[in-house]
Amino acid sequence: MEISRRKFFVASAAATAAANARSSNGKRPLIICAANGYRYLDRAFEALHSGADTLDAGLKVVTGPEDDPADDSVGLGGLPNEEGVVELDACCMHGPTRRAGSVGGVRNIKNVSLVAKAVMEHTGHVMLVGEGAERFAVSMGFPRENLLTEHSRKVWTLWRETHSNQDWWGPQVGAPNWTAPESHAERLVKLNEVAANLGIPEDQRADAIHKVLVPPTGTIHCSVVNAAGEISGVTTTSGLAWKIPGRLGDSPIIGAGCYTDADVGSAGATGSGEENIKVAGAHTIVENMRRGMSPQEAGMDTLKRIAHYHKDDQTQLKYVSMIYYILRKDGAYAGVSLWSGGDRKRRFAVHDGEKRYETCAFLFDGNPIEWPPSPNVPW
Ligand code: ASP
Repeated sequence: MEISRRKFFVASAAATAAANARSSNGKRPLIICAANGYRYLDRAFEALHSGADTLDAGLKVVTGPEDDPADDSVGLGGLPNEEGVVELDACCMHGPTRRAGSVGGVRNIKNVSLVAKAVMEHTGHVMLVGEGAERFAVSMGFPRENLLTEHSRKVWTLWRETHSNQDWWGPQVGAPNWTAPESHAERLVKLNEVAANLGIPEDQRADAIHKVLVPPTGTIHCSVVNAAGEISGVTTTSGLAWKIPGRLGDSPIIGAGCYTDADVGSAGATGSGEENIKVAGAHTIVENMRRGMSPQEAGMDTLKRIAHYHKDDQTQLKYVSMIYYILRKDGAYAGVSLWSGGDRKRRFAVHDGEKRYETCAFLFDGNPIEWPPSPNVPW
């Protein structure tokens, strides 16, 4: 069922008004990151307090999920590409020295955020990709290791044995030959059967099936400002699950997945990388702040641009997810999301002496895709 155009505009206008009524509070030092960085904020904040560089503090956050085999959106244990190979992307910007580093499509090396920093520090380049980036990492002392955990391998096998034409070989969302996928309902029976045959434990089956039907986005971004107003940002990811080998999303793209300007602030993204590249999201946000917008206004404006590129068409936008993490040089911050997340509100994490989750401001109320499909969902 389609939400009516009128209802959509009323809902989105109300959500925008509610979002704009919230205000961020400037305080330094401050660290902002995606929700999966929460557990690592204390060690980063402590380091910052002891005088650590802002980028090094950010790396203390993002290397947490990179090292964690249970976080399947980043580093070790990340969900693989369509051939079952984990390929990682990362980039960073160091505000105080206005330098940047980036790596894309890296195999066999877990801490690609640190490799991005090494590119920045030890080469005259900004971006290395693929085999060259891997060889560079090994030459810098990073160990090669198998990044595919048994759990991620099984979820990938489930995808491979049950996927249809709704994979990354289709056109981009909104392209002239794009059509919305049919209901997932018929595939559920087969997915359950195959998951059981693969030995995926019953309590993990729903989650594995969800990842097949709705290839997850994850990633972690972190921006950090210290008491002196120095600022840096870093983003790292295993990218979209089941992607075509060699695909780079927004995360390693300076200006899309991460952008930091020492005069203004820093921003980063998690979500549909292809959409974010098209609006150069992190750069657009920082430039919006440079022109006087608050962090929240700057982020909402960029989300509206994504919606505008899709002609505000819900049949397309419900397949897009996007969260921006925004930090101004004075410590003002915001987390904004294209979708509210419905009952499970989209969150981000902050540490400014007090560690906490906060709820993202949002453009549209609801979820990008409801799962499992049910006649009660408002689409
Ligand atoms: N933005 C990432 C990408 O497109 C995915 C994500 O955030 O999960 O690769």
